Formats: sequence, C-alpha cells, structure tokens
Amino acid sequence: MGRPQRNHFKARCPECLAAIWVKDDVELWDPVTCPECHTALEVVRLRPLTLDYMEAEEWDDEDDWDDEDWR
Ligand SMILES: [Zn+2]
Repeated sequence: MGRPQRNHFKARCPECLAAIWVKDDVELWDPVTCPECHTALEVVRLRPLTLDYMEAEEWDDEDDWDDEDWR
C-alpha cells in the first residue's frame, strides 16, 4: 500500500548522547524521557529536533518545609 510511514525525529540525549526517537507529532516543550539514562528532557527546538534538560522552575521552595510551627 502507498501508506506513508510514520516519521520519527531523531534527537540526541545531552546526558548520555544516546539517540532518541521522538514521534513526529511531538510539540515544542514536550517532555521526553531518555530511554537510556532516564533523564527528564524537553523539546527546546523542532528543526532540528533538540532536547535539553527539563527546567525545574519551582525548585527553590524548600523554605516552605522549614516551618515547623505549622501544628
Ligand atoms: Zn540519556
């Protein structure tokens, strides 16, 4: 049949440099987990497909847990 094969984009893990295949319907900022090192990544660019470490934006709220007077 003349059915077009579903494309996958090939990207590279910045952590272990493994090749990662991502579905062609992936969108910018989609989360991707490296199948090799399980690093949390995200799509930072589509052409060429580029993955980068996922940014932890609300990572510095440790102070909230310092409060021991809550009860
Ligand atoms: Zn990796």
